[in-house]
This record gives sequence, C-alpha cells and structure tokens, in this order.
Amino acid sequence: MAKLALKNIYKVYDGGVRAVSDFNLDIADKEFVVFVGPSGCGKSTTLRMIAGLEEITAGELYIDDTLMNDIEPKDRNIAMVFQNYALYPHMSVFQNMAFGLKLRKLAPQEIEERVNRAAKILGITDLLTRKPKALSGGQRQRVALGRAIVREPSVFLLDEPLSNLDAKLRVQMRTEITKLHQRLETTFIYVTHDQTEAMTMGDRIVVMKDGFIQQADTPATLFEEPVNIFVATFLGSPQMNIFDIKLEESNTLKGVFGDSIVDFGDRKSKQLVSKSYIGKTVAFGIRPENISIAKDGIKAKVDQVENLGGETIIYALVNGIEGVLTIKIPTNREIKVNDDIYLKFDMEKAHLFDKDTTLSIMGAPRYNEFDCKIDGENLVLNERKILMNEEVRNHLFDFAINQCSKMRVLVDKVSLNDIPDSFEIKCKIDFKVIGADKDILYTTCNEKDGYFIFKVDHCNLNEGDEIVAHIPLKDISFTNDESLKVNSKEIIHDNIAKCHVATSNGKTIIKIKNHKLVFNDLKVDDGDYLFKLLSDKVDFVYNKKYAKKNKIDIKSKPSNTIHVSAYDEEIVGDKNAIFVKIDGFEHYVTIVIDNKFTAYKMPEFDIVINPDSFKLVKC
Ligand code: ADP
Repeated sequence: MAKLALKNIYKVYDGGVRAVSDFNLDIADKEFVVFVGPSGCGKSTTLRMIAGLEEITAGELYIDDTLMNDIEPKDRNIAMVFQNYALYPHMSVFQNMAFGLKLRKLAPQEIEERVNRAAKILGITDLLTRKPKALSGGQRQRVALGRAIVREPSVFLLDEPLSNLDAKLRVQMRTEITKLHQRLETTFIYVTHDQTEAMTMGDRIVVMKDGFIQQADTPATLFEEPVNIFVATFLGSPQMNIFDIKLEESNTLKGVFGDSIVDFGDRKSKQLVSKSYIGKTVAFGIRPENISIAKDGIKAKVDQVENLGGETIIYALVNGIEGVLTIKIPTNREIKVNDDIYLKFDMEKAHLFDKDTTLSIMGAPRYNEFDCKIDGENLVLNERKILMNEEVRNHLFDFAINQCSKMRVLVDKVSLNDIPDSFEIKCKIDFKVIGADKDILYTTCNEKDGYFIFKVDHCNLNEGDEIVAHIPLKDISFTNDESLKVNSKEIIHDNIAKCHVATSNGKTIIKIKNHKLVFNDLKVDDGDYLFKLLSDKVDFVYNKKYAKKNKIDIKSKPSNTIHVSAYDEEIVGDKNAIFVKIDGFEHYVTIVIDNKFTAYKMPEFDIVINPDSFKLVKC
C-alpha cells in the first residue's frame, strides 16, 4: 500500500546538469505509472530520487504522506529492478532471491516462505535449485523480479527491466509484468524509452523531455489529446504526420493543404483555442491510420509501399506539400509505387499545433492562460478585480507586482464542486467534448478572452448551461512574459528587519542586530528604520570550502556581506529562490539569485548588500 506525491522536484547534478525540473505528480495506491521519453530526459534520475539513490536538489517527495527526502533508501519500503539485473553467478536461484532477506536477518522459515511464494507467482518454482548460467534471459529477468517481490515492498520501481531481452521475450515479459502488478496489488513505477511498452503497460503514462513532464495521462488521452507536437509524435507508430497548413474560416474552419482544402467541420472548428490563428500557418497533425484511400479527395503519388502482413504502410507525395505523408491502411496489394491515389483525412481525428510554441491549439491544452496583472492587493483579470486572499498574496515574490502578466490554471485542476480555498469563475458552456477519460468543457467567462477549458468526470451538463468553476488556490501559478514563475510554493515574507542608521565621517552606517553595513553617504537622516531587503537585488559569495571543492576562483571578499544559512530553495525560471535565516529578520528571508549553485550543497554562504539591494522605510 503506497501512494506517492512528488512536489516541485528538481535535480541539478554537480557541474550544473539539470536533469529534472519542476516535476509534479501524484501517484495513487496500486497505480501502474510509466515514465517514458527519449534517452537523457530524466526518467532514471526521477526514479532514483524516489528510491533514495539520488539526492533531491529541491522539492518534496512524500510516500503515504511522509516526507521522504532525508529517509535512507533501505527505510523507504521500495524495491527496484534494474535493466542490469546482475544475479550472483555462484548462487542458486533460491539463494539469489533469499540473499537480501538474509542480510535483513529475517528468520529462515520466513525467508523460505517468501521465496517459495514469489517463485510460485513467477512460475519459477522448478528453477529454484539452478544457477543463473543455466537460465534463459527471460528466466533470469524473472529471478530479478523475484528478488524484488520477496521484499514485499509497497512500491516497485522498474528501470528499463526488459531492454536486455530480445523482441519476442520482451513482449511476453511485458504481459507478465502487467499480470504481476494485478496479482501483487502494489504501486508500480516503470521507466522505459519504448512507447509501445508504455502504452500497453501503464494505467498512466508520464511523457518526459529535457527534464520536464510534457503530459501525464492515461494512454487513451495521450493518444487522442496530446498537448504538444512532442507527445503527438512520440506516441504512435508510424508517427503522426505533421505538415504546415494555412487556416481559413468560412462557416467552418478550413485549411489549405497543398492544392486542396480540408474542412474541420462544425465540432472541431469550435475547438480552435483562439481565432487569432485564422489566416496563419500552423502545424497540422494527422495519424497515418486516420487517412484512407478514396475515389476522390486529396491527390497524391505513391512514393513507397511497405506490406507488413496485416497492414500496408504507404508513403505518398502531395503536390505543394513538402515531405512525405505516411498512410496506414489494412493490407492492400493493389497499390504500387508511382500510382496516383486520392486520400481522405478523418478530420474528427485531426490536430493543430502552434508552430512556435508547439502546443496544441485544438482541443484541451495542458493549462489555460489568463492575462492578468497585480494592482495592489487585487488580481485583475480583464475587467474583474479580485481581492487576493492571503494564501495567494503570501506566495508571490516581490517582483511579481511588476512582472506578473499571466495566470495559469491547469485544465484538470478545476472542480464544479464547492471546494475550500478556491477561486470561483462563473462560466457558460459553449460546447462539450466527450474525451477518452473525461468530458472537456469549453466555456466562456468574463475573466478571459477565448475559451476557459477544463476537464470534469463524464457528466450530464450541456451547451448553454451556466456553471461555476472552482479553482484551488494552491494550483494557480503566475508567470511573467517570459513564462517564468513569479509565485513560490513557500510563503514569501516581507524581508524586513529593524535597523538603525547613523552618519559618520561622510559614511552611512546601518546596523541590523549584530550586522553592520557601511556605505558612502546615502543621504539619509539618522534614526530608526525598517530595512527591506529586495529579494532579487542581492549577490552571493561562495563559501571557501565549496569554492575549493568545486575549483571556483573567489576574488577578495567584497564589503558589506552578511552570513546566511539556507533553509530551503526553489528553482524559479532560470533563477534560484533561496530561503535563508538572517539575524535580526523576523522570518526567513527570500533571496532570488543565479542558480549556479544549490543551497543544498552550500547551506552556509555570504550575501552581498549593495546600496540598491534594499529600501529604508521610516519607522
Ligand atoms: P534517462 O533515464 O531519461 O535516459 P537520466 O535520468 O539518466 O535520463 O539523465 C538525465 C540527464 O542527467 C542526462 O543529461 C544525463 O547525462 C544527466 N546525468 C545522469 N546522471 C548523471 C550524473 N551522475 N552526473 C551528471 N549528470 C548526470
């Protein structure tokens, strides 16, 4: 029994390789979750952080509501199966499976029972006396799984466990692992770069690229509603065709595709996220299996034909279109290279993407973006001014006041039920799409231009219904124009301390508790002030030990430094927000600095206070 919560998890390796960024995921008890993505996208790193084999740079990992960041791997009740399963060659299968339990000093009878039980589940009871060299690849892999099963963990982590097996065995083991999951009724997290493995095994798939989650959904939703070109083309074989298309509108949405015009029809036309795309060239996506051969339609010339037994793959050229169109049809031996054929697209299954952002612009996006600004204590969304409650205000960085320009609301975080600590938006359903797992509501509201889109459980709501959407405050994020977050998971305090200012010999001396800062005359009257440190205007100095270890050259120590000790940190865009304790300040202080180092590696360091790093406010 185990549920997991990964909150804002980051991994920055020594030397600055950022392997995982802002990883957020809740995994339900008994769920089978697959992490998939190309090599180097951060899958194994995430798995290893869950196992405790890799330190978490920032963020929190919970297993069953217990914070795990600092818990030893052996105390996490997790078992991991690797690609390289390394069985001990001199030990029998039984001994290999029993070895870990012996180390844990379990009673011999308990060990025997557990090994026998696992062997039965895996169908390897007959092999218990054999040595690994007398086993086939598949049998060895089963023993490796057995070694994990005997530990009776609450979470199974599997890192590409099948990639050393040949194709046929892989298919067989895939089914076995799925069955094993059903039998054990335990949470499974499985890493693979193979999209077929992911699609066939996972209850839910997390598609990753460059350390970021691209989309986390059921296989059906990922396939039918990919949020961007990467997900659209990563899943499905042969991969989705992507071509440029120019959008036009007359009654319905149309696209100029070479010499032909394709029509999106009523229902699809409504799903274009913004009319501003009309007249523009966008990326058009259609899967090979959603193209058929017809008597008329889009004219194409056959370039290549592959007959694969049950199906035929045709590669065709279309006048005015650069690149080759891939078509998958039931076996057809009539079609030959250089034939002229006519194609029909199943436009109900078509996709559109923005060419610059590569995000889907038809159907449900990952999040809604509301234009917004912050005006004093209010959040302004179009004409509506909303008094931000403390929960929202407390998490905004100082610079959010000037920089905040977008509010992001994830499409799957909106509820139609009244929930505590939420923010309400009245909206009207324009239309509803019955999606693979949920209904997608396309609504209009006063707070946003274009649609406000969100997913709800299949429901009886219809077009024209007026509803209230509840957005949990904790799930709202704010960004600036460069898509950098301007709110934090932590409470941002005011960075204020009491100070005393005195002028002497043309110098301004500021005393905060035991800290003394000396500046050329700041032209401030002597007296008591509040010292407000501006979070993004301070520099830092590496401590000597860290600099030496990492061969960083530190020049002579600047003046006006304050020694701080870090309490936590959060990566914000390309900066690092570090929460530090400073004598004299009531709460912890937030500083936002370059993320060349992580406070996890250097919890004690100096910050440099310049004349523009603070403001003095008369008491
Ligand atoms: P995947 O499992 O998706 O193939 P990894 O999690 O292994 O990806 O790696 C993610 C990124 O982190 C890659 O750029 C990789 O080179 C880098 N990386 C992995 N391990 C280390 C390490 N120990 N030190 C530095 N960089 C690493």
